Amino acid sequence: MGDQEIRERIGRLREEIKRHNYLYYVLDSPEISDDRYDLLLRELKELEALTGEQPPPDSPTATVGGAPRNEFVKVVHDSPMLSLENAFSREDVEDFLRKVSKGAAYPSLCCELKIDGLAVSLHYNEGKFILGATRGDGRTGEVVTRNLLTISDLPRDLAGKVPGRLEVRGEVLIKSEDFMALNASREEQGLPLFANPRNAAAGSLRQLDPSVTASRRLSLFVYQVVSPGDHGLSSQFRSLSWLRKMGFPVQGTECLCRGAEEAFSYIERWRNERFSLPYVTDGVVIKVDDLGAWSGLGTTAKVPRWAVAYKYPPEEKLTRLVRIEVSVGRTGTLTPIAILEPVALSGTVVQRASLHNADEVARKDIREGDMVWVRKAGEIIPEVLRPDLASRKESSVPFRMPSRCPACGSDAISLPGEVALRCVNRSCPAQILEGLRHFASRSGMDIGGLGEKLLEKLVEEGVVSDIADIYSLSMGDLAPILLTGEKSSRVLGEKAASSVLDSISSSKERPLSALIAALGIRYVGSRVAEILAEAFGSLEDLGSCDEDSLASIEGVGPRIASSVAAFFRDPRNRETIARLKAAGLNVSSSGSPQRGGVGPLKGLSFVFTGELEGMTRSEAENRVKELGGSTPSSVSRKTSFVVSGSAPGSKLAKAVTLGIRVIDEKTFLDLIERATGGERPEVER
Ligand code: NAD
Repeated sequence: MGDQEIRERIGRLREEIKRHNYLYYVLDSPEISDDRYDLLLRELKELEALTGEQPPPDSPTATVGGAPRNEFVKVVHDSPMLSLENAFSREDVEDFLRKVSKGAAYPSLCCELKIDGLAVSLHYNEGKFILGATRGDGRTGEVVTRNLLTISDLPRDLAGKVPGRLEVRGEVLIKSEDFMALNASREEQGLPLFANPRNAAAGSLRQLDPSVTASRRLSLFVYQVVSPGDHGLSSQFRSLSWLRKMGFPVQGTECLCRGAEEAFSYIERWRNERFSLPYVTDGVVIKVDDLGAWSGLGTTAKVPRWAVAYKYPPEEKLTRLVRIEVSVGRTGTLTPIAILEPVALSGTVVQRASLHNADEVARKDIREGDMVWVRKAGEIIPEVLRPDLASRKESSVPFRMPSRCPACGSDAISLPGEVALRCVNRSCPAQILEGLRHFASRSGMDIGGLGEKLLEKLVEEGVVSDIADIYSLSMGDLAPILLTGEKSSRVLGEKAASSVLDSISSSKERPLSALIAALGIRYVGSRVAEILAEAFGSLEDLGSCDEDSLASIEGVGPRIASSVAAFFRDPRNRETIARLKAAGLNVSSSGSPQRGGVGPLKGLSFVFTGELEGMTRSEAENRVKELGGSTPSSVSRKTSFVVSGSAPGSKLAKAVTLGIRVIDEKTFLDLIERATGGERPEVER
């Protein structure tokens, strides 16, 4: 490449990487994979080195993260929150070790797993949590104190005595199971999916409404004390034990390694073992253990010189795509699924991967019989990347979606505005089965024992064709099906059946929100179901509400409103609901353990808007709940009080429109004090 070409390539790379930085750090929605990004950045770094010139301060090789969003209050970090130098090979790690030892013996190293989340800075004063911020562009971060307070791992008060100020750095993350549940519920609501747990965690923490953060089940690990000398700390390894003693969540995977070989065995040990952890890690951070040496080694504008992040290469493997099966979802969507020759990938054996829709299969030109490259997106979701064209058989043909539903033979139709094909036959056995599975699942009615195999048999034998049929099941229906194998005795079959019947019976006590989520209304996942249960209090009131009123509820919107209204208009659904009610299911919130308990505020709901001065929002909500009241996140006609702090949001305007009583913080505190003495407040409109 000539000089001119190098400069042009550098210019293009800088623009391209800046765009990806914006998508990743500001919008939490990347377009390319991390390894592809790392390759682009590495190329830019190498080309910049060739020019022999210092890169400008805004080059992606010299900047950290992305600009903080304007909607957030900002904070300037006392000491910058930097990125980490990457190492992709043993040589890169050795290079780092040579630099930090400066010709002397290699220093002791503290090796830790690199958590794939987003960095946060946590400030404490006299042992109390006072402020939390994101990394932002490394110099200025976004204040997310209230959002962080919704994470149960975060200690509000430290377990040990720490006088004065303390700043701790850590990583907010979403555990793999919670990530899968979040994406499943987003898929159900027709919302875009998060590409990986890191983006899900970032997108969930960087929310203007902390109640959205609260619904996302985020976790936290801390890994660093800022100004450790102020707290008598001189070793990174020991400061992690100190943090643990102070009540902070620490991963517990740290290891003090004396020399390069021990660090390499740590890397090897965790290469596969990390897949058994409940969260995603993408490498090992190797740090000089002696904290006193850190200031001497210093930092560049982008990274500290006392640490390096060894990144595990993403695992991509070649396997045969045996066939493409078409599955029928609960709402009739036809999805092509790749059935693969089993292949070990990122800790599990992968045999199936969703191909999403026909457009995606055509775009990647994936065909039955191809050898294909597979990997796990975000180390979790199996994904077919591309075919290996060199080994493709001449006889192979492009894949075509069937024109009929593979389960019932009805026409597969493409509805306006939708990419997917859909089977619109409501009696399609595949849809019935999916609907039943969803109903019995953990996030729905949580009927243990009513698993896929048993449901399949019950549908096949025509015993169950509607969710309400579950509540008419008897010992006679279940015991013969549960009797399998020659050795099974009648007693065993009856024992298994009786346990299924017990869980069916206990599911009747599930709260209204779980029942609403279990009904399988399009776009209504667990979170929307909670909003609807809080707003209406009964299935009857929800079913009789018109579309406009539904759409006016915060967190609902026109698409969900139209889907809910259409569901309750359908006479077949109305009949099912009448049967569920007759079977004794919990169709209203009263008596449900999730809504208000006993106490003077029982049956009263308080919605908070704006900033409170004397306490945090969650403290205020806890006071209400302790006294038996409920604290829905949105205002509806059923709200008893709206508590308005400083800088209230749109909830205040809505309360005024609906004629809900609005009280200020002082009146709220008086009311709480009187309620603590047993007095029940009047709800005037
Ligand atoms: P990084 O994620 O590679 O490393 C720095 C971060 O690691 C720190 O800020 C800290 O938050 C975190 N960390 C986790 N565990 C730690 C531990 N035990 N000790 C210390 N720190 C720990 O760097 P980055 O600047 O946050 O992000 C750069 C990376 O993000 C890229 O390498 C790429 O993988 C990804 N990225 C991807 C895109 C894309 O479009 N796909 C765009 C931008 C960035």
